[in-house]
Amino acid sequence: MTYTGTFLVIGSGIAGLFFALKAARLGKVIIVTKDKPEESATNYAQGGIAAALGEMDNPEKHMEDTLTAGAGLCDREAVRILVNEGVAAVRELIDLGVPFTRDDSGSLHLGKEGGHGMHRVVHAHDFTGREIERSLLAQIVAHPDIQVLDRFMAVDLITEHHFKPRQFSRNCFGAYILSEDTGEIHSALADYIILATGGAGRVYPHTTNPAVSTGDGVAMAYRAGCRVRNLEFFQFHPTALYREGDPAFLITEALRGFGAVLTLPDGTPFMHRYSEQKELAPRDIVARAIDSELKINGVEYVHLDISHRNADEIRAHFPLIYNTLKEKYDIDITREPIPVVPAAHYMCGGILVNYDGRADLNYLYAIGETASTGVHGGNRLASNSLLEGLVFAQRAVNDIEGRLRQREAEAKKPYLKRLMPWDKGGAANLAEWVLVQHDLKEIRSLMWDYVGIMRSNLRLQRAARRIDLIYSEVLDFYNRTIPTREILELRNIALVAQLIIRSALQRKESRGLHFNTDYEEVRDESRNDTILEPLAFKNPFGEAI
Ligand SMILES: Cc1cc2nc3c(=O)[nH]c(=O)nc-3n(C[C@H](O)[C@H](O)[C@H](O)COP(=O)(O)OP(=O)(O)OC[C@H]3O[C@@H](n4cnc5c(N)ncnc54)[C@H](O)[C@@H]3O)c2cc1C
Repeated sequence: MTYTGTFLVIGSGIAGLFFALKAARLGKVIIVTKDKPEESATNYAQGGIAAALGEMDNPEKHMEDTLTAGAGLCDREAVRILVNEGVAAVRELIDLGVPFTRDDSGSLHLGKEGGHGMHRVVHAHDFTGREIERSLLAQIVAHPDIQVLDRFMAVDLITEHHFKPRQFSRNCFGAYILSEDTGEIHSALADYIILATGGAGRVYPHTTNPAVSTGDGVAMAYRAGCRVRNLEFFQFHPTALYREGDPAFLITEALRGFGAVLTLPDGTPFMHRYSEQKELAPRDIVARAIDSELKINGVEYVHLDISHRNADEIRAHFPLIYNTLKEKYDIDITREPIPVVPAAHYMCGGILVNYDGRADLNYLYAIGETASTGVHGGNRLASNSLLEGLVFAQRAVNDIEGRLRQREAEAKKPYLKRLMPWDKGGAANLAEWVLVQHDLKEIRSLMWDYVGIMRSNLRLQRAARRIDLIYSEVLDFYNRTIPTREILELRNIALVAQLIIRSALQRKESRGLHFNTDYEEVRDESRNDTILEPLAFKNPFGEAI
C-alpha cells in the first residue's frame, strides 16, 4: 500500500506534533510514529521549557547563558533565532491550551535551573512534557487533515536510488514504513518529509531516554546521503537510579543540595577528592567523578545516601522520589541509600540542517533532537531542547510555505511511476532474538566503557575496531533477516554508535561534554564542528553502508 500526503512527519514528540499542527493548513499531513503516539522523550520531560518571559529577563540574557553552556561551539545565529523566536513559540503553546503552572497572581511560574542566570523555565509542575504532549495530541487527533499511523516504523528514506532505473541525485520522496501489526512494509510519499525522530540515548545501557530513542533519524539520513554534526557531544545526567532495562529514573540534583552524600557501595565517600564543593560541584564534574570511581573500582553503581536526614523532612521535600522509589523499586530512601549511575540524557549533535531545518537532501527537513541546528554547541543549556523543537518546527513550516507557492515539488512527480516496492532481497529468516540481544548488549557495553563520560585515545580506538566488526555482522544479519522493529533498531543503534565514535576520535581536545584524558585542555585550533560526510557520496547506491 502507498500512503500519500503533502507532508510526511516521522515522529510524534514536541517537534513532529507542533510541525504537523502548523502545517496542516497547507496540506494533508501523515504522521508516522513507531510506538503509541505519546511515547517519546517529550512525554518524560520534567523541568520545563526556557523562554525569556520574566519582567527582568530578555532574549539577550538567555542568549548569553546558552552560549556559555555551549563551550564556544554554538552557532550564534541559531542561538539568536532560538531565544528571540522562542518567546512567541511558548506563547503559542499557551494558546494551544497547555496548562502551565501559575503563581498566586495568575502569572506563569518561572523556574530557575542550572546555567540560567534568570528565572525563565516555564513548566507544568514536574511533568511538563506530559502536558505538552497531551495538549498537542488532543488537537492532532481531532484534525481532519492529519492522519496518524501509529505502530509504524520508518525504515529508510526513499531517494532516486529506489526508482527504476536507479539514479543518484539529491531528492527525498518519502519513506518505507514497517507496520508492526502486519509486518508489511509500505511506501509513504510526500512533497516534504520531516524527520522528528528524537534522540539516541538507547545507544548506551544507562539512559533516561525511552525505548523509542534509538537514533533512527540520524541513521536514516546518513544512509540516504546527509551529513551529521557534533555527535561526540552526548549529555549525561549524573544521578539516575541504577536499573537495567527501564528508562533510568532521574534523581534530582536537589537531593544533593539537601545533603545527600555520594559513596562507594561500601560506604566510602569520594567527592572530596574531585572538588572542594564535593556533592555540590557542577553536573559534569559530578558525572565524571562517579564515572571514574565506577571504572577504578570495577563497580556497577555508587550510592547516593540521604538516610541521615530526618525522615519526615525527606518525605515532605521529595514526595515524588520517595514514593516512586518505595512503591516501584522497594527502596526506602529514609533508611537506605539509592544505587545511582550517570545516564545518557541528550544528544547535542545530529543531522546537519540550516536555520530552516533543511537537511542535505532536497525536500527533507530535520527538527527537534535529531537535528543539529547549532544551538547547543558543546553542551546543552537545561530546558532549551523543547524550545528548539518548537522554534525550528515553525521555521520549517514557514520555509515550506514559500516553496509550496513555487510548486517546487511538482518536479518530483514524473519519478513516482517508477518507484520500486520495498526490496526484500534474500531475507527469509525471522530474527533470532538472542542474536539481537547479544549484539545490543555488546554495543551498549562498549559505548559505556569506552565512549562514555571519560574518553581516551586508547579507549576510542578500541571502540572503533570493535564497532566496525559488530556493525558488519549486524548488516549481514539484517540482509538475511525479515525486518522487524528490533532488527531495524539494532541496525540504527550500531550505525549511530559508529558515528559517535568516529566523531569523538576526530576531536583532539576536551570541550563541553567531550572529555578526552589525552587532551585535557580546550584548544582553539580544534574549535571546529565535527562533520561526518556520508559514505553515500563515495558509493552512490549505498549498498555497503
Ligand atoms: C527524562 C527526560 C527529561 C527531560 N527534561 C527536559 C526538560 O525539562 N526540558 C527540556 O527542554 N528538555 C528535556 N528533555 C529533553 C527533551 O525531552 C527532548 O530533547 C525533546 O522532547 C525531543 O523532542 P523530539 O520531538 O525531537 O523527540 P521525541 O519527543 O523523542 O519524539 C521522537 C518521536 O519519534 C518517534 N520515532 C523515532 N524513530 C522513529 C521511526 N524510525 N519511525 C517512526 N517513528 C519514530 C518516536 O516514537 C517519538 O514519537 C528531557 C528528556 C528526558 C528523557
